[in-house]
Amino acid sequence: MFVKAVKCKECNTTVYSRVTEDVRECECGRIRVYGGFLAHFKYDVKDSKANYQTIKISIDATPDDLYDDYESMEDKFGLVKPEENNLSYIF
Ligand SMILES: [Zn+2]
Repeated sequence: MFVKAVKCKECNTTVYSRVTEDVRECECGRIRVYGGFLAHFKYDVKDSKANYQTIKISIDATPDDLYDDYESMEDKFGLVKPEENNLSYIF
């Protein structure tokens, strides 16, 4: 499925919010996402000079997978590290 995400070009990580309560930051902390992965997706940019891009990415998970990942704090999803950052992007 597709999720709304923000790619931080400062640290080259991509973050998305798994459930409404989920707050995630990119590795350098300039970008913070929250509110879930679709309609209520929101983000804050702490550094106004930060170079970032709002994108949609395809992830190999269902909404239930994301919820379980959040609940169990397994954190397999929500943050895409630079070495995994070659996903199919839709701009
Ligand atoms: Zn960053």
